[in-house]
Amino acid sequence: MAAHPPKTKILISANKRLQNLKEAFEKKYGEAPLFYAQAPGRVNLIGEHIDYCGYAVLPMAIEQSILAAVTVNDSKKIYLANTEPKYKDFTVSSEDIEIDKDNPQWYYYFLCGVKGIQEHLGKVPLSGMKCVVDGTIPASSGLSSSSALVCCAALLTMEVNHKSLNKVALAEISAKCERYIGTEGGGMDQSISFLAEEGTAKLIEFHPLRASDVRLPEGAVFVISNCCVEMNKAATSHFNIRVVECRIATKMLAKARGLEWGRLLKLSQVQTELEASLEEMLRLVAEVLHPEPYSREEVCKVLGITTEQLCTDLLSPNTHADGAGKLVVYTNQCGRSRQASCLHQSVRTEPAS
Ligand code: ADP
Ligand code: MG
Repeated sequence: MAAHPPKTKILISANKRLQNLKEAFEKKYGEAPLFYAQAPGRVNLIGEHIDYCGYAVLPMAIEQSILAAVTVNDSKKIYLANTEPKYKDFTVSSEDIEIDKDNPQWYYYFLCGVKGIQEHLGKVPLSGMKCVVDGTIPASSGLSSSSALVCCAALLTMEVNHKSLNKVALAEISAKCERYIGTEGGGMDQSISFLAEEGTAKLIEFHPLRASDVRLPEGAVFVISNCCVEMNKAATSHFNIRVVECRIATKMLAKARGLEWGRLLKLSQVQTELEASLEEMLRLVAEVLHPEPYSREEVCKVLGITTEQLCTDLLSPNTHADGAGKLVVYTNQCGRSRQASCLHQSVRTEPAS
């Protein structure tokens, strides 16, 4: 049976970060926190941008994390504050949680986690809570601060409401509910945030979600450098464009091979149905997809669908705009892994000039 998140008693005075957070909480709300919840960020070692295609990935958690201090009350209100002044306070009724994906403020990521648990519990009324969030993961730098925040919020919402869920369930709920902010991620980030263990990377596989240890070489040191160029995934369409490209490629490849393409969404499903090797998949891509730009019209024609169906069934809200009008085949030559280079040879949308 999958394990539940561990609960530990820690001497606050022996931990500077907890001590500082406790003081910030007391200053903000005039009471001491009842408990703390923490979720780590991650670095991915192998398998960039293939989780949403259904393929296995190899991430490991990092020490940087989202930490939250929490109290519970019966006001049915959720009070949110942050130790970083640029993240403003926010208060919302627990009975009326809306996530504005056109305006991806920090508290909406938190509320994704709350909403995910609420929906899992059957839209039950949630207890009120006060939280102060403290993050040490550089935001929008690719170390998954957003998922750590969503996971931390899901974890503490479960605790506030006296529920108990195992780590796999929490990871799946968090992967699903982070999509409320608009990014159509594949689930790696939330899975490693919950399933990580010290001293080991994890091979994460999907359908069903499972994680197995990949021992790191004794004494190995991983250096993560930050170029300090931020990419806010929910505020831009870059991330979703890649997801959508792979989705369209899935449909085209499946249709070309006479599969029931309507129900297939991920490249891994096409490979499984065809029982094809990666080499055979590469040949299929080269045979079916042409390297010149695809227009929306051509995609619709190839698939036999209307523009409306393209928008509702295949594109995400932030890839609907005319700006993503042209589609081109894109071949990833850098080939981080054979699997990745195969999968990135897919249909790519390009901004219309
Ligand atoms: P990442 O690669 O870090 O996941 P994203 O663009 O997906 O980048 O998410 C970054 C967003 O997550 C930030 O814009 C902010 O809204 C939220 N976030 C990250 N760290 C914190 C934090 N410490 N406190 C509040 N929100 C945070
Ligand atoms: Mg993110």
